[in-house]
Amino acid sequence: MQLLLDLHPDQYPLEGFRRKQLLEWVFVQGVGGFEAMTNLPGPVRADLSAKFRLNPFREIETVRSSDGSAKYLFTLLDGRQMEAVYMPYLDRKTVCVSTMVGCPARCAFCATGAMGFGRNLTPGEIVGQVLAVAGGEGISPREIRNLVFMGMGEAMLNYEHTMVAARILLHPQALGMSKRRITLSTVGIAKGIRRLAEEDDLGIKLAISLHAPDEETRQKIIPTGAANSIEEIMAAARDYQDVTGRRVTMEYTMLRGINDHLWQAELLAERLRGLVSHVNLIPMNPWEGSGFESSTEGQIQAFYDALQDRGVDVSVRRSRGKDAGAACGQLALKRPAGLAAAL
Ligand code: SF4
Repeated sequence: MQLLLDLHPDQYPLEGFRRKQLLEWVFVQGVGGFEAMTNLPGPVRADLSAKFRLNPFREIETVRSSDGSAKYLFTLLDGRQMEAVYMPYLDRKTVCVSTMVGCPARCAFCATGAMGFGRNLTPGEIVGQVLAVAGGEGISPREIRNLVFMGMGEAMLNYEHTMVAARILLHPQALGMSKRRITLSTVGIAKGIRRLAEEDDLGIKLAISLHAPDEETRQKIIPTGAANSIEEIMAAARDYQDVTGRRVTMEYTMLRGINDHLWQAELLAERLRGLVSHVNLIPMNPWEGSGFESSTEGQIQAFYDALQDRGVDVSVRRSRGKDAGAACGQLALKRPAGLAAAL
């Protein structure tokens, strides 16, 4: 049976006023089934139920953190599992969604990378995470104003489905999000970065998980990163900026004794010269068996100062949901019957 959320809103099965009603039920009211759509005639609801499925998940488990964030573990219809994180910042409710089950990028510090690749998520399975999180939080899906494609998976390697999902998120009759409030994170797929620059109607923001300014360190951290050298990634980032005029965010996970040396801060500043960018330093969220530790507060501060002294726009992102296993993949990895078993 087809998943309704896999369709772009303009392709929804009803016409005119009825389509508008259907869209309101799904994206404003956030109902989980066609039967609840009481202003649609009974035969229309029965027809929709016979042809489409609304909920992409078999099961949803929530783990709440003391800081107010929540991790959602979804069991898909095929039994595979993936996650999303809800972060209720004061002025903006944010959801971090997955684009894949597992991930082929295999970043050494990442729990998802340790699982390997399961499969790509469909557009409906990506958008469905937002609807399910809203349902779990007791809010309208429209109240979620910020979205990051930073959960499990490398979005650029599930490009088509991620773009359809982004168009659904932006569609005024669906979630109606602002393009300035959606960020796509990539480990640095140069071809994907250039492709994204050409998506004129989207205008979503780009974040590059650079994590190291030198090839040797980067290839230790991201073994698959060799496919795109740092030079190639930086060239793609510059092309992206030339086409879109948008600032690029550089994500930099702080790993003790690996990528937090001052010479690396200097090299990073050099790499970024001429690019309008913002560097996010992210203390690593440690997980059992990773073999990595987060840099100390002192090292992070020194790295921050070295970048700032060289004119780099930089901030430190504080991880949320540490007690809920919020680093991507941590929750699924803990469950033997979960993702690892489904791969
Ligand atoms: S950090 Fe992101 S890109 Fe790297 S393995 Fe984890 S999910 Fe994949």
